[in-house]
Amino acid sequence: MQVICLDLEGVLIPEIWIEFANKMGIDGLLATTRDIPDYDVLMKQRLGYLEQHELRLDDIQSVIATMEPLPGAKAFLDSLRSRYQVIILSDTFYEFAEPFMKQLDWPTLFCHQLEVDGDGRVANYLLRQKDPKRNAVKALKQLNFTVFAAGDSYNDTTMLEEADAGFLFRAPENVVQEFPQYPLTTEYDELLRHFDALV
Ligand SMILES: [Mg+2]
Repeated sequence: MQVICLDLEGVLIPEIWIEFANKMGIDGLLATTRDIPDYDVLMKQRLGYLEQHELRLDDIQSVIATMEPLPGAKAFLDSLRSRYQVIILSDTFYEFAEPFMKQLDWPTLFCHQLEVDGDGRVANYLLRQKDPKRNAVKALKQLNFTVFAAGDSYNDTTMLEEADAGFLFRAPENVVQEFPQYPLTTEYDELLRHFDALV
């Protein structure tokens, strides 16, 4: 029995922080997991910019409300879910993801939580566990599932390593160069064919 583990941002939806950075005109918020391998470093940097610009959770959520999944993502996910069990493993936060999950027909999502203070400011972030993508794959394998995975960034590479088969999807050049062991895919039907070929 196969389980497919998919990254969210960059694979099914646009990068939330990039959209927010562009809308707010804050260049410092343009960095993502594609640029900074250490997620703690990245998040501390982001929270610093939020504080500096006095931005609250609802400022981010109002930008998210204008966003949609990537073109073709919903059909791809529907097709995938009709054939396999699918779990989305993301380093985003439930407070950001809900509007996208609604548009994607509520797939299973494992991600993190934000800590918001009484004024609606993002005070901190609570990572569910260390190396969550790898640990999720590991746990699924312990349950006797065969795991295939796809993602686009540094924070996906331990998931790809742990999985029985891993693919990059629309990954930036630096990630492709550093991780040539994972085949690069760029289209949904191509990725689907790769998964189908494994079973
Ligand atoms: Mg991603």
